[in-house]
Amino acid sequence: MSTGKCREYSPAVFFPSDGVGVEIAKKICNRCELQSQCLEYALTNRINHGVWGGTSERQRRRILKERRQSAAQPVAL
Ligand code: SF4
Repeated sequence: MSTGKCREYSPAVFFPSDGVGVEIAKKICNRCELQSQCLEYALTNRINHGVWGGTSERQRRRILKERRQSAAQPVAL
């Protein structure tokens, strides 16, 4: 976050209390060149709060769930 777009904003912007705030933070992330790395950092470290890499907490939970399900799929031979 020290080199991303978020350095130009208050940290509070990325820890919104409502859906409107989430959308504002996500728009900032969408203009950040570190978005994909930031998202992977949040997923790897299981960061549950705030907007990271252009995703909400709910979206990251969904991504992690999908990855777990994909990893559990048997490989077709
Ligand atoms: S993707 Fe968003 S939270 Fe991550 S570094 Fe960029 S602006 Fe900051």
